[in-house]
Amino acid sequence: MKAVLFHGPGRLSVEDVAEPRLEEATDAIVKVSLAAICGSELPSYRGLIERTPGGIGHEFVGTVSAIGEGVKRVQVGQRAVSPGSVACGGCFYCKQGLLTGCERFQAFGRHLPGAHAEYVRVPNADAMLEALPDGLPDEKAIFAAGLLTGVYAALTSVGLKAGDSVAVVGCGPTGLSAQLMARTMGAGQVFAIDHHGYRRDAAAKLGATPIDGDGIAAKIKAATGGRGADIAIEAVGTAEALAEAAGLARRWGALLSLGTELDKKPVLFPIGNLVGEHVRLAPAGSPPVKNYMAPVIKMLTGGVIDPAPIITHTLALSEAPRGFEMIAARRDSVLKVALKP
Ligand SMILES: [Zn+2]
Ligand SMILES: [Zn+2]
Repeated sequence: MKAVLFHGPGRLSVEDVAEPRLEEATDAIVKVSLAAICGSELPSYRGLIERTPGGIGHEFVGTVSAIGEGVKRVQVGQRAVSPGSVACGGCFYCKQGLLTGCERFQAFGRHLPGAHAEYVRVPNADAMLEALPDGLPDEKAIFAAGLLTGVYAALTSVGLKAGDSVAVVGCGPTGLSAQLMARTMGAGQVFAIDHHGYRRDAAAKLGATPIDGDGIAAKIKAATGGRGADIAIEAVGTAEALAEAAGLARRWGALLSLGTELDKKPVLFPIGNLVGEHVRLAPAGSPPVKNYMAPVIKMLTGGVIDPAPIITHTLALSEAPRGFEMIAARRDSVLKVALKP
């Protein structure tokens, strides 16, 4: 089968590799129908963080093509979505539902082969795979893999209430997903901040209010009765963006960090202001998205949220290297790139 392999920063290839086989009785094999490039894969592609050469990719949906003899719930022929990592289900963290803290945590494209491939072996399949209804197309369902489920987990963790104002720094796929989900959860004003005009335009098309130029904090204050946003969100993945978002939250508000992994660049962070203003810092990190798949799939199926416009490009799997290049260069008004095996 074809799979995308990472060789080093900026160097990917699509190769013929062995198809995965069932290894454990609890495994399933999924034939991938749509995969997607995730922003969390970009820092290693850019050479900013280490990645071991090998398979890449962790967002995918597909159809179950084989199951081990211990698999009871998942069935061959069923469409399903998987989280980007699998958990054992029995350790200290798993027992608390913190599946991404699993002591035997295995992520696709890191500990397991990558999901930018034609087939993927999913360990502990009964616990990890979530069935997809027939009427839900892949280009919407793939947002249940991590993006919409992740922002739903994060916005739930800060207690977003109907009518809340939300300011999002960063209008890439994560920021746009946060804006969409905030609106779906009943947010009032949703402000979208980004240096790139095309990304602010995308935010406006999805219903947010783009804010640009100088004095962003002052503009948001002016629009919120002089207070600032109830919830300020960093959706860039840099410490600088977190510091910028920190200046947008109101007193007793919340500051939510959505970057899976912030860069290690030292920045002046207004921690004194956060404490003095009672702003609660909530790092989303890698939330246990599996726990949020059922409600998000309901939202997608019911049509109350439509993230499909966030996918700007759908490429053949063989064109994955071009997809990564495009995102790294912010070329062609790119947002999210989907890959079709
Ligand atoms: Zn991801
Ligand atoms: Zn575990």
